[in-house]
Amino acid sequence: MHRRDWLKSTMFGSVAASLPWVSGGACAGQDKSASIAEEAARGTPPLRITDVKTFLTAPANIRLVVVKVITNEPGLYGLGCATFTQRARAVETAVEKFLKPFLLGKDATRIDDIWQSSFVSSYWRNGPVLGNALSGVDMALWDILGKRAKMPLYQLLGGKCREAVDTYRHASGKTFQDVEDAVRKYQAEGYRHIRIQCSVPGMATYGTGGATGAGDKTPSNRAVDVWEPGPYARLVPNLFEHVRNKLGDVVELLHDIHERVPPILAMQLVKDVEKFKPYFMEDPFSPEDVGYFRTLRQQTSTPLAMGELFNNPNEFVPLIAERLIDFIRIHISQVGGLTMARKIAAFCEFFAVRTAWHGPGDVSPVGHACNVHLDLAVPNFGIQEARLFNQAEQDVFPGCPELKGGYYYASDKPGFGIDLDEKLAAKFPVADDPPFDLRWGTLRRRDGTIVKP
Ligand code: MG
Repeated sequence: MHRRDWLKSTMFGSVAASLPWVSGGACAGQDKSASIAEEAARGTPPLRITDVKTFLTAPANIRLVVVKVITNEPGLYGLGCATFTQRARAVETAVEKFLKPFLLGKDATRIDDIWQSSFVSSYWRNGPVLGNALSGVDMALWDILGKRAKMPLYQLLGGKCREAVDTYRHASGKTFQDVEDAVRKYQAEGYRHIRIQCSVPGMATYGTGGATGAGDKTPSNRAVDVWEPGPYARLVPNLFEHVRNKLGDVVELLHDIHERVPPILAMQLVKDVEKFKPYFMEDPFSPEDVGYFRTLRQQTSTPLAMGELFNNPNEFVPLIAERLIDFIRIHISQVGGLTMARKIAAFCEFFAVRTAWHGPGDVSPVGHACNVHLDLAVPNFGIQEARLFNQAEQDVFPGCPELKGGYYYASDKPGFGIDLDEKLAAKFPVADDPPFDLRWGTLRRRDGTIVKP
């Protein structure tokens, strides 16, 4: 006798047969007797996932991954960001080959249950590929919920806590004068918060050109970029001094250390810039070295932001609960999407940690829309990293968040308020060239020692 038949033959059977997890979950809606979940959802007819599609597109020359979840309600679908640009094909495979068959037929309104079950469906978890794949589905389900309710997501998340989302932009240059000029340009456009990064002469410096793999300077003659942490750590305080002297105390200045220097040098640097009152110093340590935050916190009141590389709650929960950071910088798609991000924001609220979600070019416009809706709805919002979408991105993704006067404005349309022009997206195919996948991991010290990104 099959397990299901045996269950039905018992006293427990009549109840058990109506439970979605006993009746097979994906097939529950096909049972003639309504499931408990469906009866409990009186007023809303059943909503089933009928298809899951993955789109790779590069309208700004950055590979984006977007997931579309389609339901049995005609015309009702949602979009989610699953962008892990360096491993886009791996995410695509995770969605198409593993999540899609797991999700077909499931109730699209059971968002948290789908998150939890998908999260453990591979047994092994907490990685960037599976986190982004899960995020693509998760954000799409929230988008569907908003469209079904005919409400923008920020309303479903509790409503606006502010009218618009204050943002920061990146002022970078080869010289202090270049950086100063870039800050003035952003100020003229209305920005109040500006990240400053300056080249270290002769070195591939993060934020001012990045790793290119074009160098050729180590003893083994490998094609790498050369980086020495000492000159960088001594240059940054001088950059802050220059910009403060020239531009005064009103502008808010940020800087990203990008986990590049040994922890003890990062501690010196964060203390050295304290007198210039940065808005925050970002990623002083790599995720592997977060144990240093306890020591750093005792030695400086410079605000600290951390977290775009985080995957696992064990990486960020202690930092928040022990009040060791001031801003959480998580890349929302990396940790599994909106379901996890809104919980992290709520958790941070109790410890006065503010949000500063990661928002560079390798977050799709759908992901940026998710950032902005959450930014509007959480009381402990801090700042949002922003970017201007080029015309091609705006055409492929109608409804991109708008930047005006240094503020992001969300679409007031239902859900995230953003769409995908599938035909146009196909006109910007992603490059599958290995150098794109391997451009990180080429940074080394002069003697050939690898340096974290
Ligand atoms: Mg960063």
